[in-house]
Amino acid sequence: MSSDTPDYGFTGSTDGEDGEVLLSVQALKKYFDEGVSLLDRILGGGTNAVRAVDGVSFDVRRGETLGLVGESGCGKSTVGETILRLQEPTAGSVSFEGENLSNRDGLTEFRRNAQILFQDPFSSLDPRMPVGDSIRQPLDIHDWPWDGEGDETERKQQRVEQLMERVGLSADQLDRYPSEFSGGQLQRIGIARALALDPDFIVLDEPTSALDVSVQAQILNLLADLQSEFGLTYLFISHDLGVIRYICDRIVVMYLGEIVETAPAEQLFTDPQHPYTKALLESVPRVDLKERERDIDPLAGDVPSPRNPPSGCRFRTRCPEVIPPADLDIDQAAFRDIMDVRDRVADREIAVEKVRNTVTEEGGQDRPRVADRLYDRLVDNELPPEEREYVREGLQAVAAGDWDRAGEHLRERYESVCETDHPTGQVSCHLVE
Ligand code: SF4
Repeated sequence: MSSDTPDYGFTGSTDGEDGEVLLSVQALKKYFDEGVSLLDRILGGGTNAVRAVDGVSFDVRRGETLGLVGESGCGKSTVGETILRLQEPTAGSVSFEGENLSNRDGLTEFRRNAQILFQDPFSSLDPRMPVGDSIRQPLDIHDWPWDGEGDETERKQQRVEQLMERVGLSADQLDRYPSEFSGGQLQRIGIARALALDPDFIVLDEPTSALDVSVQAQILNLLADLQSEFGLTYLFISHDLGVIRYICDRIVVMYLGEIVETAPAEQLFTDPQHPYTKALLESVPRVDLKERERDIDPLAGDVPSPRNPPSGCRFRTRCPEVIPPADLDIDQAAFRDIMDVRDRVADREIAVEKVRNTVTEEGGQDRPRVADRLYDRLVDNELPPEEREYVREGLQAVAAGDWDRAGEHLRERYESVCETDHPTGQVSCHLVE
C-alpha cells in the first residue's frame, strides 16, 4: 500500500488462497417473478422473471473481508440478503461452518451468528423505538445465552450499555430516538445492534455510502477495529472500488447477476483480467495527481435488462474487446459498429421508412441508394472494403423490407463466440480461457 492511500487497519488474511471456509455459496439463484402473468407461467415457465442472481458460487474464509462489487443493479445486495435468508433463494445452496442452511435447525443458529448492516442508517432503525430498545431487541428475540448470574434484565441492560460505548457513543443516549442522532451515529447504533448476539459473520451492505466522506472513514476504522477485536468475518458489498480496495482481502466482481472475476484484492487492482473489471477500474478517481489527468474511458452503454439478459457472455453488449470471428481482420470499433447494425436489424429498430422518403424527395428511389444512406447513418468507423460491401448487401435487404434475410445475412458472417458461448472459470471471459 502506498503512503498516500488510506489504511483503515483491516486485518484479515491477505493471501487469498488459504484459510478455513466459514461460508460457502454454491450456484445460488434468486429470480423475482413479479409482473409475470399466470398465462406466462403456464406457457413459458415464467421465463420473464427478473434474474437478479443467476448461479453465483464463492467461499468466504474465516477472518477475511470479502468484497462483492459491481454497478448498481448487478445483484450484489440480493446475494447478501439471500445468503441471510431475508430473501428465499430460487435455487442453489449456502453452507455455514459446513452445515447446509436448508436444514431449519442450522438456520436458527445461523441467524444468531450472521448479521447485516444496511446502507441507510435512517431507515434500518424503528423511528418510534428508543435506540437502546433497538439494540436489545436481538437479545430478546434470540434467547441471548445469558450466563445465569445476576438478574437477566440487568445483564441485558449492561450488555446494551457496553455495546453503545464500544461503538463510540454514550450509555446516557440509550433512551433517545433515532431522529436525535446524526447519520454516522445511527450507523454506529446499527453496528452495536449487529454485534449484540456476538456474531461470527456480518454482511456490510454499502455501510458507508449514505454518509459524508469524513464520517465514512470513521465508520470504516471502527469496523476494522471490531474485526480484529472480535475475529469477525465480513462480506463487504459496495459499488465503490476506491473503498473496497483498501479494506478487502479478496474481491468478487459481479455483472448482471453473475460473477465475472474473483481475485485477491491487490491482484485485481494491479492486474485485472476481465474486460468489465478493467472498465470498472478505469472509472475509479485516482489519488495521484498525474493519474487524475488521464483520459477516463467510462463504461459505455446501459446495463441490459435482467429479465432478458444477452446470450453467451452477458457483458458482450458493452464489452470493448468482443471477439470477432477468426477469419475477420477488423479493429474493435469497426466490429462494434457491425454488431450494432446487426442488433438493430434483429430488433427491427432502423427507421428505414424515413430514409426512403428522404431519398424519394431527392428524386431517387432505388434500394442501393437507400442502403447507402442507411450505411452512412449507422456505421461511424471505416470498414475494410469487403466488409463494407457485405454490410451494404444486408442493408439492401432491409431497404427491400426483408428483415429476416438481412438478419440472417449479417449473422452468418459476423456471429461472435461471445454471443454463442457462455464463458466460465475464475475469470469468465473467452479471452482469458
Ligand atoms: S467473453 Fe467476449 S464479450 Fe465477454 S468479456 Fe470476454 S471478450 Fe468481452
